[in-house]
Amino acid sequence: MKQFKNFALPFAVAITMMTSCQTTPVADGDYNNYPVYKGDDLEMRVDEDGTRFTLWSPTADSVKVRIYNEGLGGEAIETRYMERANSNEPWRTAFDEALYGKYYTFSIHYNGEWMDETPGAYARAVGVNGKRGAIIDFATTNPEGWENDVRPALDKFTDIIIYEMHHRDFSIHPSAGNQYGGKFLALTQEGTQSPEGQMTGIDHLKELGVTHVHILPSYDYGSVDESRPDSAQYNWGYDPVNYNTPEGSYSTNAFDPATRIREMKQMVQALHRNGIRVILDVVYNHTFINDGSNFSLTTPGYYYRHNEDGSYADASACSNETASEREMVRDYIVNSVKYWVNEYHFDGFRFDLMGIHDIETMKAVRAELDKIDPTIFVYGEGWAASAPAIPAEQCAMKANAYKMPGIAVFSDDLRDGVKGHFSDAKGRGFATGAENCEESVKFGIVGAIQHPQINYELVNYSKAPYTNHPTQVINYVSCHDDMCLTDKLRASMPEADEKSLQRYARLAQTIVFTSQGVPFMFTGEEIFRDKKGVHNSYCSPDEINAIDWSLKQQNREQFDYYRNLIQLRKSHPAFRLATAEEVCKHLQFIENTPKQVVAYTLNDNAGGDVWNQIVVAFNGGNQPAEIEIPEGNWQVIANDGIIDLNGTNKIEGTTATIAPSAALILAR
Ligand code: CA
Repeated sequence: MKQFKNFALPFAVAITMMTSCQTTPVADGDYNNYPVYKGDDLEMRVDEDGTRFTLWSPTADSVKVRIYNEGLGGEAIETRYMERANSNEPWRTAFDEALYGKYYTFSIHYNGEWMDETPGAYARAVGVNGKRGAIIDFATTNPEGWENDVRPALDKFTDIIIYEMHHRDFSIHPSAGNQYGGKFLALTQEGTQSPEGQMTGIDHLKELGVTHVHILPSYDYGSVDESRPDSAQYNWGYDPVNYNTPEGSYSTNAFDPATRIREMKQMVQALHRNGIRVILDVVYNHTFINDGSNFSLTTPGYYYRHNEDGSYADASACSNETASEREMVRDYIVNSVKYWVNEYHFDGFRFDLMGIHDIETMKAVRAELDKIDPTIFVYGEGWAASAPAIPAEQCAMKANAYKMPGIAVFSDDLRDGVKGHFSDAKGRGFATGAENCEESVKFGIVGAIQHPQINYELVNYSKAPYTNHPTQVINYVSCHDDMCLTDKLRASMPEADEKSLQRYARLAQTIVFTSQGVPFMFTGEEIFRDKKGVHNSYCSPDEINAIDWSLKQQNREQFDYYRNLIQLRKSHPAFRLATAEEVCKHLQFIENTPKQVVAYTLNDNAGGDVWNQIVVAFNGGNQPAEIEIPEGNWQVIANDGIIDLNGTNKIEGTTATIAPSAALILAR
């Protein structure tokens, strides 16, 4: 999610309005004096010895736990007061029996009134719509063979190729041929096809060659009513409710708490079996609801930053921002991420509005994940909707990426340099003929590191490098936010025919996929899907968001170009250098190129490449452009919108011509 998203979520808004409790403003400094709890048994644990409840709520003066037979509705079968040894301890109670199949809520007495019931902040299983915690035996949620599930191999982060997708976009359209359209299980189905016989689903991902899928929020969010599975509801899901449980609407039965858990694991398992890693989009930076959130209903105020008048600080533009710098919030985030890895085998995390979090928290996330597996990838949006309520130097912003080794940030510099400004539909970039974008493109090519041949003063946004190494940058031209690439090209090049638009797309993506760093693409662009010009499709219907897979046959040449581009990157380590030293040593820009041209060489078998030298040149102008190249006999790998991995055509001499709006790649 990016800046200035206007949520209009009737379902969640209704919840907000029903919640009358107001938190008493507490000076933010006082929260640091709250007694913290380091036990790993928050908030419910169950085994053959019984069921134990432990709630961290230092300012409550009384706490109840209620036990239910149902996930929603019905009366509590037991209500029990919890107790604490002293005001530094959490509230506790225990039942002798394992209450499998039951549900629970907490409610706290605070500031003179009983607050609404909550499943707590840590629930790992919930009933429908996440209203009550569920007591289940997690051993029953493991799919067959789960103990043998392993991560596909990954050597270094620059080997990653990310495919960002929403479950429903990807598989709900009838042309996807998927019996589990829009569900976790859609990604477990092999052999699915479009009506024209083109591969869809997981087979499509394999055919394309991506290494990671990044799924949009898949934890339990509030904006889709899980009790109405047959109604076509859509939301991206940037409105977290229960951070540690899967979203019910992506399961085949949201009423059964174990089903969503088992099916999400099946999804991860199937992707792993097919050689693809899985990244979870995590949104710890805000909750959609303030006083009524599970955070507020357990420990009022603590999880959020506030303004001096006690109101909620709101750097997310979603009505609040969480306070990652507080010990229990930091622990919460770190433990939640670890939980998703250990229980569900996720391979990476994309942090929404990461700039709201403090650097220390992100470093703690990295350090803890390193203990499990250092190939787990962490990246995020290095920005916020407005300035967070902590000092700027503490924020996990893009400009501070160099302070967070092993964590990557999105490069809006390359993104907008290539395609034009994200919010100005008509705005053009390098690939669509805009002038003076060369340094922004070069900034992307080197992976946002310090390189002696870049004039940082001329880069569109960042006037200084921000990464230590190219492993710390995500290169992309589009994602779920804003216009997708097809729509952006249509809006900014209204005179262009379809073939020309696809040509611009090829140039744009060739820049992304040959740049140093981690390439990232948005689902369906490989078959030139569009979203009918909708900028913010977070709750748009399927007719906007669903991918029509018949486009794959129609735009098969476009798909093949993407596939070849990915294959080029995967077969040639020169495009995947992992350190700044290697980039500076091997990558040299060609000087004195015409305007709207960026060209460079990768020299001396960069990264151990079989090619001794590679020329990569981009022409953003609408006329052929000539550049000087090192003298020799060259294989033509890409030219005029076509990739030939075998380099069948040859050229020799000291000059080369780049076709208009196209890339030229030569190798020897
Ligand atoms: Ca939900």
